[in-house]
Amino acid sequence: MKILTILGARPQFIKAGNLSRELKKYDGIREIIVHTGQHYDANMSDIFFEQMQIPKPDYKLNSGGKTHAAMTADIMCGVEEIAIREKPDFIVVYGDTNSTLAGALVASKLHIKLAHIEAGLRSFNMLMPEEINRILTDRVSNILFCPTDVAVQNLKNEGFDRFECKIIKSGDIMQDGAMFYKKIAKKPSIKINNNFILCTVHRAENTDDKTRLTAIFTALNDIATQKQIILPLHPRTKNIIKNLDIDISNISVIEPVGYLEMVWLIDNCDFVMTDSGGLQKEAFFFKKPCLTLRDETEWVELVKCGANKLVGADKNKILSNYELIKNGFHCDFELDLYGGGKASEIIAKELIK
Ligand code: UDP
Repeated sequence: MKILTILGARPQFIKAGNLSRELKKYDGIREIIVHTGQHYDANMSDIFFEQMQIPKPDYKLNSGGKTHAAMTADIMCGVEEIAIREKPDFIVVYGDTNSTLAGALVASKLHIKLAHIEAGLRSFNMLMPEEINRILTDRVSNILFCPTDVAVQNLKNEGFDRFECKIIKSGDIMQDGAMFYKKIAKKPSIKINNNFILCTVHRAENTDDKTRLTAIFTALNDIATQKQIILPLHPRTKNIIKNLDIDISNISVIEPVGYLEMVWLIDNCDFVMTDSGGLQKEAFFFKKPCLTLRDETEWVELVKCGANKLVGADKNKILSNYELIKNGFHCDFELDLYGGGKASEIIAKELIK
C-alpha cells in the first residue's frame, strides 16, 4: 500500500512525523512524502529530521514566496505529476494551508482517496485563507479525521452526514507529538528566570495591523516589568515592530527556537500568551493556562473549559486577564479533549483497513 503525504511547513512535518512513525510499525506500507516548499525554512536541515525522528521528504517542490493563486497552482502541478507517477492508494493532507488545499484538489480530480487530518475545524471567519482551505478540503475528502467533538459537530452541521465520506474522531495528532517530544525536550541556552511567560505573536491579523500590534506589545512590555516574558520572534515581526518604533525593551526577545526547545519552554513556563493556533493546544497538553491574542479561536473547547481566555488585541483586556491568571487560575487540565495522544494509532488503523 502506498500513501502520498503532502506537507508545506515545519509544523506540518512535526505533526505528520507521528503518523510516519506509526505507519512504520506495519509491513507493506510505503509512505512517500512531498515537501511543497510553501514555507522555506533554513532550520529544516538533515539534523532537524534526525533530531525530530521524522523521515525526510522524497520529493521537494519550490512553491514558496508566491501569491496564493500562483502557489496553489504550482503545488497542484507538482503533486499531480508525482501522484500520476507514484499511483498512491491514498493522499494524506494536514490542516489548512495552501499545500493542504492543493493536495486535496489533485487527489479528488485524479480519483485518489483523500484523507484529511485535522478536519472539521472552523473559525467561521471567511476572511482567513485558512478557513477557505479547510472548508474546501473537507468537502472533497473521503476520510475526515477530526481532532475534537466540536470538529465532528461542525461537519454534521454542514451536512457532511449526507455526503459520501467517513467522519472519524481520531483525537488531535499534535498531542501525540507533545507526549513523544516531552521525553527529549531541550532547555534553550538563554537566561531564563524561575517564573516566566512564554509568548508568540505571528498572525497577519496582528502583525499587519498597526493598532492591534501596538496595543498587544504595549501590554506585553508592561507585564514584562513584573514577570519575564520569553518571546521567540520571527525576523519579519521583529522588523515590523522596529519600523513602527514599538517599545519592547522589557521583553526577553529571542530567535525562533527549535521544537524540542519550544516543548521545554511550554513545559516549564507559568503560562502562555499567543496568537498561534497550535500553541493554544500545546499549552493545554502541558497543563498551562493560555491568553489568546485573537478575537476568535478554532479551539472553542479550551475557552469553554476555562483553560483559554480570548483577549484579542485589547490592551486593558490583556492586562486584566494577566492579573486574573497571576492570582491563581484554575481549570480542569485532566479533561480528555484531544484523545490523549492516540490519534496516529487510530488514523493508521483506518488507512490500512
Ligand atoms: N514553534 C516552534 N518554535 C517557535 C515558535 C513556534 O517550534 O519559535 C512551534 C509551536 O510550538 C507550534 C508550531 O510551531 O507547535 C506552531 O506554529 P505557528 O505558531 O507558526 O503556527 P500556527 O499554530 O498558528 O499554525
